[in-house]
Parts: sequence; C-alpha cells; structure tokens
Amino acid sequence: MRRISARVSAITESATLAVDARAKAMKAAGRPVILFGVGEPDFPTPEYIVEAARQACGNPRFHRYSPSGGLPELREAVAAKTLRDSGYRVDPSQVLITNGGKQAVYEAFATLLDPGDEVLVVSPYWTTYPEAIRLAGGVQVDVVTDETSGYLATVEQFEAARTPRTKALLFVSPSNPTGAVYPPEQVAAIGRWAAEHGLWVVTDEIYEHLTYGGVTAPSIATTVPELGDRVVVLNGVAKTFAMTGWRVGWLIGPKDVVKAATNLQSHATSNVTNVAQAAALAAVSGDLSAVAQMRAAFDRRRRTMVQMLNGIPGIVCPEPQGAFYVYPSVRGLLGREIAGRRPASSAELAEVLLEEAEIAVVPGEAFGTPGYFRFSYALSDDDLAEGLTRLAKLVASA
Ligand code: PMP
Repeated sequence: MRRISARVSAITESATLAVDARAKAMKAAGRPVILFGVGEPDFPTPEYIVEAARQACGNPRFHRYSPSGGLPELREAVAAKTLRDSGYRVDPSQVLITNGGKQAVYEAFATLLDPGDEVLVVSPYWTTYPEAIRLAGGVQVDVVTDETSGYLATVEQFEAARTPRTKALLFVSPSNPTGAVYPPEQVAAIGRWAAEHGLWVVTDEIYEHLTYGGVTAPSIATTVPELGDRVVVLNGVAKTFAMTGWRVGWLIGPKDVVKAATNLQSHATSNVTNVAQAAALAAVSGDLSAVAQMRAAFDRRRRTMVQMLNGIPGIVCPEPQGAFYVYPSVRGLLGREIAGRRPASSAELAEVLLEEAEIAVVPGEAFGTPGYFRFSYALSDDDLAEGLTRLAKLVASA
C-alpha cells in the first residue's frame, strides 16, 4: 500500500507559489530580488472594507458557525453585484460563497465531472485548472494558442478538440497568464457553439474589472442566453478589491449544481470565515472606485512593460488587454550564452535570471507552454523599470 494516495501524489506544487516562495526567501536573506512572479495587487485592501471586518469581529453572531453556502446577505449582494456588473440575473440561492476563487474552481469541476469527462481548456492556462480537473477524474483537452493570435482560441479550434466525451468548456477572459481578453463577437461565437453542442461553460470572471484601453470583458453568461442553465460563473473579491489574503470567492450556477457543491463544501470546509465574508459584503455592496484607481496604475505599468520587453532582442511580447500579466515568448533567447550558461528551456532561463539578475518570473512550463515567461506587473513602477533594466543588461551581455 502506498503512503500517499495516487490521487494526491499526482498533484504538483503550484509553480507560481513555488517561484514566489523561493524569491521571497532570497529577499529575506538580503538579496534585492524583484518579484514579477506574484499574482496579487500590490495595493492595500481599501479602508472601508477593513473597517467592516473590524466591526464584524465584535459581533457575536460572527463568532459562530453560519450557513455553509454563505451569509444570506452576502449571497444577495453577490447576486445584485452580478446583475450590476454583468447584466446576469440570478437568485441568491444560485450563489455559493467559497474560500476564494480557488475553492470555487475546485468545487465546480468536482460537481460537474464524472471520470473520463473531458474539459476543453485554452492553453496557456492557469496552473490550478489541470489539478482541479484531474482530482475530479476529468480529462483536460488543451486548445493551444500562441502570441500570433494574442492567445485567443477560435470556434474552429474548439470544434477540432470536441469529442463525444466533451462535457464542458472552460472560458477565462481576461486570462491568467496571458492577459488576453476575448472581443464580444468571439465570446458570442464560442458561447453559441457551446450551446449548440449542449456543453457546459465554466466561466472564470475573476479579472472582469481589470481591462484596459476601453476594452470590456462581457460575461459569456449574458452574451449567450442560449446556454440556458448550463453555465457556472466563478468569481471573487481577490483581484478587484486587493483582497487576496481574505479568501472569499463564489460560484454561481443552476440550483441543483449549487446545492450539490454546497453539500460538498459543508463537509470540506463549512462556512467561509464570517469576518472575511463581512469584508466581502462591504466590497461587493460598495462602488468600483478602488479598482478604477488600480486600473490606472496597472495600465501605465502594462504599457511600460510591453515597450521595454519588446525592446529586448529575442523577446516578443503581445500587448495584453486585461488582468495584470504579460506573457512574452522568450524562445529567441534559448540556446544563447547568458551569464556563462546556455539555458535550453524557459524554466532554465528563469533560474538564470533569478540567480544572476535577481528577478523572479514564472516560466511558461507552469502554464502548459514552455518557451514563455509570465511577468506580473502588480509591482511598483520603480521596481518594474529596475527589473526590466537588469533583464536587458543581462541579455545584452550575452
Ligand atoms: N482564477 C484565476 C484566473 C486566478 O488567476 C486566480 C488567482 N490567481 C483565481 C481564480 C483564484 O483567486 P483566489 O483563490 O485568490 O480568490
């Protein structure tokens, strides 16, 4: 008998968190590491949200278990926010409050998939999806994109990947790791195609408010009403309100799916921390001015980043329109001598950058596409410029 089950030993460490941990350890040891690895806003949580949590701490009601599905007032507020921001009308009973968007991802696949059911996933993809799909017994089918299309998948590509076992399509716009945002007509075409074939659509909308240059990211749920009740929306407060550490997300779906996922959660984790739910309630009931401020800073950094990266020979960086990542190809740098080494893969090149230039990036291996780097631009303007200057110098000395 095995010590660790086959199911759990197949799970790999989150590559993004691993890079982050290593870089932070180097930093703690006194090395001036610049972190392009992290996927979290570098802004504090807005004060009115923190204050709501302080108030909640003193309320005895919040010292006790609360319903597994979430505080009723938060479920209601999430339903109202979803109508406000996406035009998607749902009943509060269709909302399940989860421990961050991550738990919503896990529960969505655990609830929808039987062993062997296939899920279409656009690659490059966020590292958590493959693990959540596999743990549920599902089979991920990659729909591969690259920088030439701005990392956007087409209906033809989805159709080529469809089989009689295809149960769901995972739709992520804006995307982590590429920052790609699907234009409205492409959202409509993909949604209609999914509806035509009776597929479920799981749509991760956690970066919905982080889009730039006048671009918007319409929800596929609203754009394609023909999807009927075969839509599961995943979202949370982490990115919009700089609340990554508070751990509040949600899953919205048809009542039977939400009921089943709530049963699962009731045995796994029960209710999300009440104080964090109270903070999330203040966030989703309030306005979007905090995210507007962050958006302006991110947009400025995005433009600097794209310009500086494209100025480095060997790097090709499409301009992303959402989230806070850029995803350049670094294939032009592979096999060249850099700092006395000859990195053959993006993973090796990331090692060299960390050791020699003290900059931390996540290699494309983590997102299913070697040959690329993900840079987060959720860091200060000065650090961003300093980090990219170090990169340019290192590469120029090759
Ligand atoms: N979806 C995507 C695409 C993400 O990038 C993240 C965070 N990296 C999440 C969901 C989950 O966020 P959280 O669990 O912090 O709410």
